[in-house]
Amino acid sequence: MALRGPHLLGIEPLAPGEITAILDLAETYVTLNRQPDKHGDALAGLTQINMFFEASTRTQASFEIAGKRLGADVMNMGVAASSVKKGETLIDTAMTLNAMHPDLLVVRHPHSGAVNLLAEKVTCSVLNAGDGRHEHPTQALLDALTIRRAKGRLHRLTVAICGDIAHSRVARSNILLLGRMESRVRLVGPPTLIPAGAAEWGVEVTDRMEEGLDGADVVMMLRLQKERMDGGFIPSEREYYHRFGLDAEKLALAKPDAIVMHPGPMNRGVEIDGTLADDINRSVIQDQVEMGVAVRMAAMDLLARARKARPREVMA
Ligand code: ASP
Repeated sequence: MALRGPHLLGIEPLAPGEITAILDLAETYVTLNRQPDKHGDALAGLTQINMFFEASTRTQASFEIAGKRLGADVMNMGVAASSVKKGETLIDTAMTLNAMHPDLLVVRHPHSGAVNLLAEKVTCSVLNAGDGRHEHPTQALLDALTIRRAKGRLHRLTVAICGDIAHSRVARSNILLLGRMESRVRLVGPPTLIPAGAAEWGVEVTDRMEEGLDGADVVMMLRLQKERMDGGFIPSEREYYHRFGLDAEKLALAKPDAIVMHPGPMNRGVEIDGTLADDINRSVIQDQVEMGVAVRMAAMDLLARARKARPREVMA
C-alpha cells in the first residue's frame, strides 16, 4: 500500500489504510534499528533537507538519523545562521532550497498552516515536523506504533490526553489518528487549556482527572506550552501539578496495565512526576523516542516510493 499524496502534512488527509501501512513498514525498521548494521538503501541518492524554524531535540535528531540510516544525503539548515535572520521570507527560503533539487523537505514552523503553504510552492515531498498548534503527524504515528506494540491493537482503547490541549499540535494529530482508528479519546485539563469547540471533535472532555483517567488504557501527558501562552492560563505550576500532574496515585485511577506516555520535552514536577516518568514498568516514553526513528524512516521511504512513481512536475 502506498501513500496517496506526495507529502505528509498531517493526519487529517490520511486514510486508516495509509496509517496502517506506515506503521507496518515502521515495524520492519524497528527490527533493522536494533541490528548492529542499521543501514538500508530506500533513500539512496536522495537529498533530504531539514528546516527547523523552532527549537527541537527529538524530532530533528530523529529525522536526521532516519534519513542517514536509509542512505539519504541529509542537510540540516540552521535557521539561526541562515538568511531567515536577514528577513528572507519562508517561501523565498524554501524556493531557494528547492532550486537545489532536494527530494525531501522536513519542516518545523511556529505558524499553523505554514508547512502546507510551503508544500504548494516546492517540487519535492514535504514532511510536517510540527506547525504551530496545528499538526505533528509523525508524533501521532510514533505514538500509535508505541500504543499498538504495548496493547496489541489501536481500536477500542480508551486514551486520556491530559494537560495543555489548547496549544498542542500533538494532541490534535493524536485525536485525529485515534478517532480514525476507532479508539475513544478523553481530553482532560483545566477549561482554560481546552480549546473552544473541542466537545464537537467526537471526544469526551472533562476537567477532573478522576473522571478522565477512570478505566483508561493509555494516559498521554502533555507539556504546558508556555511559549504559546500569552497570559495566565493556570493559577500556578504548584496548583496545576496538584490537580493535573500525573503521579502514582492518579495513575491508579486508570486500568492496572495502563501505559504512560509523554511526547517530550517533559517538565518534571509540573505535568508529570519524575519517578513515574522513569518507571519502565508503566512509562513508555523511551519507546516513543525509539519508535520515532522507525516511523520517520517508514514515512520517508513511502514518500520516496511515491516520488519514483510520479514525474517531478506532477509533484507540485
Ligand atoms: N515536542 C512536541 C512538539 O514539538 C511536544 C512539545 O513541544 O511539548 O509539539
